[in-house]
Formats: sequence, C-alpha cells, structure tokens
Amino acid sequence: MRATIPHTLPERHVWLNAHVPPGLVEPGVSGAWGASAAAPARMALVVQDGRISAVHAGPGRPAGLDAGIASFDLDGATVVSAFVDPHVHLDKGDLLAAGLAPERDLFEAVKRVRGDYVNWSERELHARMDFALRTAWVHGTRALNSYCDWSAPEGPLAARVLQALRERWAGRIELAITSLAALHEFADPARAETIARSTAAAGAALGPFIYPGAPVELLERVFDLAERFDLRLDFHVDEHLDPPVANVAHVARLARERSWGARTVCGHCCVLGALEPHERDARLDELAGAGVGLVSLPSTNLYLQDNGSDPADATRRRSPRRRGLLPVHEARARGIRVAFGSDNHRDPFFPAGDLDPLHTLALAAMAAHLDDPVGAWIDTVCTTPARLLGLAWDGVLRAGAPADLVIHPGRHSAEVISRAAHGRIVVRGGQRVHEALPDFRELDGVRAHAASAG
Ligand SMILES: [Zn+2]
Repeated sequence: MRATIPHTLPERHVWLNAHVPPGLVEPGVSGAWGASAAAPARMALVVQDGRISAVHAGPGRPAGLDAGIASFDLDGATVVSAFVDPHVHLDKGDLLAAGLAPERDLFEAVKRVRGDYVNWSERELHARMDFALRTAWVHGTRALNSYCDWSAPEGPLAARVLQALRERWAGRIELAITSLAALHEFADPARAETIARSTAAAGAALGPFIYPGAPVELLERVFDLAERFDLRLDFHVDEHLDPPVANVAHVARLARERSWGARTVCGHCCVLGALEPHERDARLDELAGAGVGLVSLPSTNLYLQDNGSDPADATRRRSPRRRGLLPVHEARARGIRVAFGSDNHRDPFFPAGDLDPLHTLALAAMAAHLDDPVGAWIDTVCTTPARLLGLAWDGVLRAGAPADLVIHPGRHSAEVISRAAHGRIVVRGGQRVHEALPDFRELDGVRAHAASAG
C-alpha cells in the first residue's frame, strides 16, 4: 500500500482507491470489484466520527470532497466490513491447554468433554473464553455466536460466564449465545421447558444437537418452545457422512409449517454432501422452501469427518476419502443463505483453529472450490452471518454504517487468500485496533491456576 496509515486516525478521513467486494456495497455502487490485478476497480470511503459518511464509486479523489480532509491511498487494497462468526464454542476453546487430548471422532470428543465438566471453574472458563474473544477482536471480528453446552437444564456455569463476558465486551464484540443440548434432553416436557426458559432468560438462542438416531419426533416440541419463548433456533444437525440419514429434512418441514425458517439455522449438514445428487437436491429444495439458513464449518468437518484408522488394522492410519462439507454451491444456487464459521478451536474436537474468519474463508476456498472467494463469497463471513444472527447492522458499507473495516493489502482474491493472515489493518469505529494476538503462554497451567485460586 502506498499510504502510511497513522497510529491514530483523524476524526474525519477518506480511504481512496479501496477495492470492495460488490456484496458489501449497495447495488448502486456495485461493479467496483475486479477479480484480478488486470481488472482494477476502486472506490472511496469517507469516515466521520466513527461512521462511514459517504461511499463513492471510482478511483482517486471524489469530486466535491473538501480539500482539507486527511486521505489515505490504499492503492487497490481490499476493504471488507468487520467479520461475523456464526458458529464457535467458547466454553470448550483451549481445553487442550487445560490438559485434554484431541480426538479424531465427533462422538468420542463429545464424551471426553462431557466427562470434563466437573473440572470447569468460573476462573478457568473466564480465562479461556476471554483469550478467545481477544483473539477474535484482533482478527477483526465484530460479532460471534457461541454455543454453550447446556449441561444443566436451568443453565450451566459456562452460560453465566458467557453472559458476564457479553456485558464486558459490549461495543467491541457482540456476543450471541446459543444453548446446546442433545435432542433427547427434550424428552421430558418439564425438563424441555426448563431448558427453553433458562435459554430465554440468558438472552440466548435454542440449539438442539440432532445426531443420527436422535428422537426427531421431539422437534415438534422444540419448535413449540421456540414459538412460546420467542427463540431463534440454531441446530447442530447431520454432522456425519452416512446416508440415508438426513435429519435436516425434519427441520425444514417444521420450519416451513411454522413459518420459522427466517429464524432457523442448521449447522454442519455434512451428510448432504454424501447423498446421491437427486436426494441432496430434494433436501436442499426443502431447506430453500423453508427459508432456513446453513452454516458450514470447514475446519472441523475436514478434520473430524472420515478420520480414522484402517478397519482391517486399527494401528494403521487411514487417509480420508471424503470431504465432509455441505454442498455450498448447490445450496447457494437455490438462494439458501450460506455462511462459514470457525467452530471449535484447540479442544478435543479440533487441535487447531484461531477464530479467524478470513482463514476460514481461505480454507473453504480450497476445500469447497470457491471461485473468486473474496469477491464472490465474502458475504459468508460478513453480511450473511449478520443476517442469520439478526444483528442490527448487516455489514454493508453504506453511509451511516459503523466504520468497522478490515483492510488487507491484497488487491484481489489470489493475493488476499495467499496471505490471509498477513498485513491486515483492523479499524473499529474509525480507529485502528492495535492489540497483538494474545500469547499462548498465558494459558499455560490455566486449570492448575484456576484450581489453586479456588
Ligand atoms: Zn459446533
């Protein structure tokens, strides 16, 4: 980039020659994106008092701009709105630092974490979750949705810590919470009601986990409770590759019958990618008809699906044959709202991850073969998840929107995706974010320290 960006930005300034993906500007200003260096297209974003005051299509200095305004020439650098991460698990994040071992199987990981609840303390949860939020903040995330294992129907300790962090982080990261409970937990009507009531009291969404063989007849009750307590629904469903089980069909039917699709999201849906094409298309048509949103989790789904040992020799490692991703192209072609999320980080489900939506998009670009991922798919980590979560700002860069930006020196998809982690400038409320990523060493002995502190 040509410009030297000062440590403190003036109250009023303009970014010149910004390259903004068309999905992040109003349709009238579109056409501003060229997918390669040979197709430059530029725009100017004027910022005043922490908000965008004007957006101008075209290169250089817009006509009529006052002469005294501080300007920064981005020379084609990519500008996107701050990220929204629709699917993370802050309660489990960094459990590896607390001493747990990674698993290669979803249900083994579930078992391992459930067995560990007794060791969770307020202090440890706060340390692990706050570390994650500081990380997300530095990467340029303005909102995220964290599931919370609803290990007690009246609401677990982790939910109380999340609520306290939601307060503390307000204005920097908007923290949405979703209660995660296995579908069979809804079998007893009184218990189901307690879960829904405590979810509503926590200001959370309801997030049943629908596994193969789950009692799907209980979904009627889940939708009843969602209506009664006015709750958004956000399922973990079909996180497996074993057709013909595709429980997402039950969710689609009920969401359509209850007109609840706009407030219903299905995460994972890996099996859709393993169904025969006509079956897959039928399920996607049902989801599209119901207006249900989908969230794909490339990191955990690549890692956990089709991951195992040779059935003939358990000591021998076996290479994956299937990807585990939901069919995002076919879903989007039907108008289904598709977003990408981080899912787990450094816990028994996934031994990596750093809550960076741009990294997630880069991974999805290769795993799901996305053409021009920044130009054509950036909505999956900016605007679409904002809409799925019902946030006040959809992430479109228009006059009046917050000046919450991520500026990447890459000028188009190939450059941005190749160096996704490097050189980004995060701007929140018109000012740069200067914090560094927290050091992993902070979490050394996180459990022992929490225990000794009582
Ligand atoms: Zn998840």
